[in-house]
Amino acid sequence: MKRILSIVLALSMLVMAGAAAAETLTMATNAAFPPYEYYDDETDKIVGIDAEIAAAICAKLGYELEIVDVDFDSIVPGVQAGKYSFGMAGMTVTEDRLKSVDFSDSYATGIQVVIVPEDSAIASADDLFAEGANHKVGVQQGTTGDLYTTWDIEDTGKGTIERFKNGADAVLALTSGKVECVVIDNEPAKNFVAANPGLKILDTEYILENYAMCFSKNTPELTAQVNGALKELIADGTVQAIIDKYIPAEG
Ligand code: GLN
Repeated sequence: MKRILSIVLALSMLVMAGAAAAETLTMATNAAFPPYEYYDDETDKIVGIDAEIAAAICAKLGYELEIVDVDFDSIVPGVQAGKYSFGMAGMTVTEDRLKSVDFSDSYATGIQVVIVPEDSAIASADDLFAEGANHKVGVQQGTTGDLYTTWDIEDTGKGTIERFKNGADAVLALTSGKVECVVIDNEPAKNFVAANPGLKILDTEYILENYAMCFSKNTPELTAQVNGALKELIADGTVQAIIDKYIPAEG
């Protein structure tokens, strides 16, 4: 009897384990940043390079993935507070953020560039920091574009910074003449310029950066797991294939 009972118990535990849903990881992003994260017009789902890399990592590790759309500057505090499992948002690894969160290995690079109207007198990024310069610069609140222009332009008295909730709002301010340029990551910049006639990207690059996923300092096992999966997905070409799908080769 005892034996039968323990077999039944063991069996029912097996069934329960099989039926139990996989653990869900919650990814915080800001879905106004194509091609890394944005809403698909048809499905209204968040798609993009980050969404697909995160899905590939979760599939490999046996997690469900849930993506939540929040303001960019609430991602790091939310991850730090344990509200989200990780943040992934074309996010640059910076000294300052490393004080609050851990970063995964980098999976892509980005460049801060300057978007201007086609007939702008601003000809290079350096014009923004020139002696006597006084431009109105649009950025996304809490991004590296915000950080660097604050140091280089606002703190030196060479212009003013207008901060917007996301890239789309910053570009809207540019097309309506409220700011003279927008400093933002290069791939989103290309998307915004393609969608808004009359804008161009200056040839001169402002700064090169590394993108990575951010994690709470309290979940080092998860960070290590994700790094393991990421390494494999980079080695087998999956990450590059996802990037190539969203960033067609130029020429
Ligand atoms: N790469 C920039 C940063 O980390 C911008 C990211 C974003 O706007 N999603 O600050």
